[in-house]
Amino acid sequence: MEWDVKQLREKIQTTISENHSDQNSPISVPKVYEAICQILMELIEKDWSRTNQKYDETKPKQVFYFSMEFLLGRLLQSYLLNYQLLNTCNQAIKELGFDPEEIYYCEQDPGLGNGGLGRLAACFLDSTASLSYPGHGYGIRFRYGLFEQRIINGYQTELPDYWLKDRYPWEIRRADEAVTIQLAGHCYLKEREDGSLICLYENQEKIMAVPYDIPIVGYDNQTINTLRLWSAEPIADIEEQEEDQYYHQLEQEHSSWQISGFLYPDDSHYEGKQLRLKQQYFLVSASLQDILRKYSSISSATLPKKLVIQINDTHPSLAIPELLRILLDEKRLEWEVAWEITRKIFAYTNHTLMSEALETWPVDMFRELLPRIYMLIEEINERFCQDIWLNQPHLRQKIPSLAIIADHQIHMARLAVVGSFSVNGVAKIHSEILKTREMKDFYHLYPKRFNNKTNGISHRRWLVMVNPRLTHLISDTIGTSWVRHPRELTHLLRYTKDTFFLEQLHSIKQENKRKLAAIIHQRTGILVDDQSIFDVQIKRMHEYKRQLLNVFHILYLYNELKQNPKLDITPRTFIFAAKAAPNYYFAKEVIKLIHTVASIVNYDHTIHGKLKVVFLENYNVSLAEKIIPATDLSEQISTAGKEASGTGNMKMMMNGALTIGTLDGANIEMKNVVQKENMFIFGLKADEVYHIYQNNDYFANEVYQNDERLVRILHQLRDGLFGHQECKNIYYHLLSTNDPFFILKDFSDYVETQQLVDHSYTEKQRWLAKSLINIAHSGKFSSDQTIQEYATGIWKLRKG
Ligand SMILES: *Cc1c(COP(=O)(O)O)cnc(C)c1O
Repeated sequence: MEWDVKQLREKIQTTISENHSDQNSPISVPKVYEAICQILMELIEKDWSRTNQKYDETKPKQVFYFSMEFLLGRLLQSYLLNYQLLNTCNQAIKELGFDPEEIYYCEQDPGLGNGGLGRLAACFLDSTASLSYPGHGYGIRFRYGLFEQRIINGYQTELPDYWLKDRYPWEIRRADEAVTIQLAGHCYLKEREDGSLICLYENQEKIMAVPYDIPIVGYDNQTINTLRLWSAEPIADIEEQEEDQYYHQLEQEHSSWQISGFLYPDDSHYEGKQLRLKQQYFLVSASLQDILRKYSSISSATLPKKLVIQINDTHPSLAIPELLRILLDEKRLEWEVAWEITRKIFAYTNHTLMSEALETWPVDMFRELLPRIYMLIEEINERFCQDIWLNQPHLRQKIPSLAIIADHQIHMARLAVVGSFSVNGVAKIHSEILKTREMKDFYHLYPKRFNNKTNGISHRRWLVMVNPRLTHLISDTIGTSWVRHPRELTHLLRYTKDTFFLEQLHSIKQENKRKLAAIIHQRTGILVDDQSIFDVQIKRMHEYKRQLLNVFHILYLYNELKQNPKLDITPRTFIFAAKAAPNYYFAKEVIKLIHTVASIVNYDHTIHGKLKVVFLENYNVSLAEKIIPATDLSEQISTAGKEASGTGNMKMMMNGALTIGTLDGANIEMKNVVQKENMFIFGLKADEVYHIYQNNDYFANEVYQNDERLVRILHQLRDGLFGHQECKNIYYHLLSTNDPFFILKDFSDYVETQQLVDHSYTEKQRWLAKSLINIAHSGKFSSDQTIQEYATGIWKLRKG
């Protein structure tokens, strides 16, 4: 941008005096924040309408990314960065006498997502705009985002996240573009005079969907795309109601507001709740109406040439039958024609292999809420099964496991595969498992549909924005062109033996660690040693992610130290952050256990502060931004075959952490680029896990009885860990379920590999070289790379 520090500072000052008539009241943090937002939004609005105008005129093919979640994080700083104004603004704020951080933290962090899936959607929007592609997001403007986590006495409690309590500066309500959503009621088919069928509805519930637009600013390219979030509101015509209608009306009003009321807090877990189904239909119905309105001047048959819709997991997969409905019932196309168009528009991203996360809806619930959509799914299913029966006789006996409707359930992943032209997994191993196991028969039916798009992260947010000192060091060393072309980070490989460079890398990490140590002290009262290894596991709390394995390692080390206080180990600080789904009992138990272990380890003077355990509450994007630049060791220890990709692994790699991990998800692709000597790989492989499940030949009891370290730990838990009775449940749960995630089986290899980490960290130069090698190869995991692959491989887009 054209401003220098002085100009921006003066602009902030004049904006403040325009906003606040009382010239005597002092300028304050909120006033500065408000002024900066205002200045920036003015700038954005100009480029935004220019971008929209350009799209209107040149009519490029566009992508629409449908997602129930967008975990955006705070936007002010990233907007400034993309406008090349971040350094200028930091300086201007300082000259006004404030701390930039304090100003940026006035912004609410909108928690409109659970974890990786929602954050991926946010990184994708950033990269799509930054690569000048015409692409936009569609989601829901939940009034309550993911709950705020408070830890009370070691237990998680959930507080509502009312993120809209102060005006959110980046959204613009577009009431004039509201659309009506219709649900429930009855529907029946009637013959028209010409013999065609018309669908008639009675007693439908009507809801208004009002769009709120958030600008998505591309990096220094004047492209501003749009994230459109829908708010559910009652239809306005309530003034003159008959008296007996009054309560009915109030009830309807209440149920309308509910639809965009809150985000369901389950990650990698599905719950068949009616309100959730309403939310999903609300999202897709509103978004499709909006899109078709934009394309009303072209014929339905040409739609697939002009737009593509990517659906983020199955949550928005109702878009498939909903578009079909519009083409049949409203555009009056023939089934074959309408189906062909529909199938050419949708591309589906699968995010999980875990059965408990696969969405299925009970037929009865579904039919009551979406009667017409149900009819259409029945017809899709009928034709699909017919086709197999007639044309794929060898698959006849597989029909029950392929059918979209089976066992009184609607299987959304099957619907998504049948109704789209592309099906992708999110890491190589994940896509392979889809083809060879989970969706094997679908793969044989539609081999060309399946492809891989390994996840990525925005290097602008997750490196340039969160780690300015490292960014400077890199740019001073290899120039700045890597910011546009992150693959050029590999130029850093020339410096792996440059002691001066490595020394600077070290000092940056140390400074980041000191900053995090200060935050830890301020929030928890725990003092941590910045010379210790910062060993970090931050992600949703889930059994498959195996935070419990990490805890077992801590207990092992503690037991060793108690036995031999002189034991020479590298001091470690174990840092956790994780939210558990509110009704996920076991996950909450593990949170409690971490706090219990912390309360024992942190205050035991006999171990001389060699171990510290820290749990930072309320994990979200803003907290991740603080922890990641300070991480030495990134824990990515999921049971192999369970983590589809992971993206936390990529963020920490990009900031110079070394990974200890299983061969799972994108860890495998990390290993392929950095080589195994620059990572710490351990544990069962995905095919070994698979075969154990198949053969049913794992006996958790045996494994633990034969390892005295495990006997000790498990008996400590069973006997109520140093007086903490609540830990008993974990012991009983683990053994009574036969350790389904192989914590006991992988324990020994994990501990050995951690011993390697311990030793490696003491070889400072070599550790730093490894750290640099990780940074140098992390450009592969920029979401720019991923989006480039989606754009050419699936979307067939040209740059705008
Ligand atoms: C990146 C990110 C995640 C995903 O982390 P994984 O380790 O891949 O599960 C979850 N939550 C937040 C806030 C994130 O920033």
